[in-house]
Amino acid sequence: MEEVNNNRKPLITFWVIALIVLFVLNFVAVPFMNNRRIEQVDYGTFMEMTENKQIGSVQIQENKILFTNKDESQIYETGLMPDEGLTERLYESGAHFSSQIVEQASPFVEFLVSWVIPIVLFMGIGYLMRRQMTKAMGSDSMMFGGGGLGGFGRSNAKVYVKSSDGIRFDDVAGEEEAKQNLSEIVTYLHDPSKYREIGAKMPKGVLLVGPPGTGKTMLAKAVAGEANVPFFSMSGSEFVEMFVGMGASKVRDLFRQAKEKAPCIVFIDEIDAIGQKRAAGSQFGGNDEREQTLNQLLTEMDGFEDNAGVIILAATNRPESLDPALTRPGRFDRRVPVELPDLKGREDILKVHAKNIKIGQDVNFNKIARMAAGASGAELANIVNEAALRAVRDGRPFATEADMEESIETVIAGYQKKNAILTDKEKLVVSYHEVGHALVAALQDGTAPVQKITIIPRTSGALGYTMQVDKGQKNLYTKQELLSEIATLTGGRAAEEVEFGRITTGASNDIEKATKLARQMITQYGMADEFGMVALETVTNQYLGGDASLACSPETQTKIDEQVVNLVEQQHRKAIDLLKANKSKLDEIAKYLYEKETITGEEFMEILNKKPEFITEKEDTKTEALSDIPEE
Ligand code: ADP
Ligand code: ZN
Repeated sequence: MEEVNNNRKPLITFWVIALIVLFVLNFVAVPFMNNRRIEQVDYGTFMEMTENKQIGSVQIQENKILFTNKDESQIYETGLMPDEGLTERLYESGAHFSSQIVEQASPFVEFLVSWVIPIVLFMGIGYLMRRQMTKAMGSDSMMFGGGGLGGFGRSNAKVYVKSSDGIRFDDVAGEEEAKQNLSEIVTYLHDPSKYREIGAKMPKGVLLVGPPGTGKTMLAKAVAGEANVPFFSMSGSEFVEMFVGMGASKVRDLFRQAKEKAPCIVFIDEIDAIGQKRAAGSQFGGNDEREQTLNQLLTEMDGFEDNAGVIILAATNRPESLDPALTRPGRFDRRVPVELPDLKGREDILKVHAKNIKIGQDVNFNKIARMAAGASGAELANIVNEAALRAVRDGRPFATEADMEESIETVIAGYQKKNAILTDKEKLVVSYHEVGHALVAALQDGTAPVQKITIIPRTSGALGYTMQVDKGQKNLYTKQELLSEIATLTGGRAAEEVEFGRITTGASNDIEKATKLARQMITQYGMADEFGMVALETVTNQYLGGDASLACSPETQTKIDEQVVNLVEQQHRKAIDLLKANKSKLDEIAKYLYEKETITGEEFMEILNKKPEFITEKEDTKTEALSDIPEE
């Protein structure tokens, strides 16, 4: 990418120059000018000149004599000798005794050099800095006149003269909706005048919202690439600097450059870094720097005309935290969601990235995409790259499907911990635990098929895991499916209880997930009989983990907690019952896993489907309810 770093020389250089000039003037020039006028002569010459009455002024110092000629155009210096009657002779010669020969030598020039020039210099610098600061603060409210830091305020905005990344819409897989939404902007940038003529106004700002790694930056680049216009890019966090006023200055610089290059795209990543809600009445203790930067951004956005040809794209994964002023009409009034890819999207993204590596014919992208449910575009890109790395490590000329599968597991669970030492007993416990999950899943309807069970420890700390993969895209879950999911999560612990009669710490992650799901069912999906369709929690951070905040009374909260406990406990019971009823299958598969360490879903189903028949849950326990949770 062609990147012009438009970094102007900061004002600090002026300071350095000023200091050097001062130094030169005071320590070199002044003495030099004086010295030039002083001529060293020997004592004889002095006596001679005295004799001939050629001396104008004279000054006898401690160890030398300074004197001038009659018209005082030249100063002479000579050493002081013991000389009887020198004073009388000088007096007779008509010399004028002076105490200030050197100082008077050039009073005007010296005054100029050591006072006037430095003062003018400093005043000049002061003025420059003042202007700089005032500009930087975006107002004329100077709080500290002529402070010494204004020079840093110059923008270091990276100017991407052209989006020579060459990213086009085709490179961004999935995200069809977002692309459609943005294609209008591309048309506009091609020919802003068409819009001007008809009087149509393009939005000045478009906010791309979505979880991290979904391709927001890519989309912004693609818009510039498609429209073939310059792409200015800066991250919100880059604006926020140590010194107040600098962020604002950067914003101003960025927009000035953008306006010169219009039509163009200005992309501000992580806009929440500057665009966060301003604290009400935060005169003191507020984040002045951020607020000033935000204010400057708002001013700039209001400042240019509707059809100036500058489109500002901004990305955030925390849209709810943005200051409402940013999303007002005339600013970022269009919002384009960039969501996690669905099954088709994941498949497409994998294919796009697989183009860049050598890959075997056997790879079933659909299968890989199904395994990578919930992965973002960035994670999928990473999965493809990990597969290629693995192929190189193992000396294969191309990446295989097994490489892809392994890299998914790596991304999900971390690398295999080759030298982890588990005792045989621990290994057996883990085997039962994992088979417990798999069996409970397989014995219930509406659960995703088991893809793989393994007891190879991972760097993430997992001692083993069971991977379930949905057959297709799943957007809706029934209450029954969610209950089955909770039962599956408790299946690991249940198997330990059924086989060993005691429990271990190995289920902590399962417990966490089960509790979270149960809680969501009650507070968000309206699946608790007692509460019904009442939202008891609101999700505050949907793109970053989905934190929820309670919106109910303490009494209700207590009831919710009770219900969560009940719900999980019920499913735990169900899991124990299922495993007890199928104890021989549990033993058989657990022993098999213990031996092999990794078994595939097919092997698992083969053993399960052998005679004698397994026993599934009773039909009458099922209830149906709809939920709108996304796949996972
Ligand atoms: P964001 O800005 O949303 O955090 P990026 O645009 O920076 O995400 O994406 C990071 C990387 O992930 C990209 O460079 C690209 O390799 C990959 N990626 C993300 N989304 C997609 C997508 N939809 N299609 C292809 N690659 C993608
Ligand atoms: Zn488990």
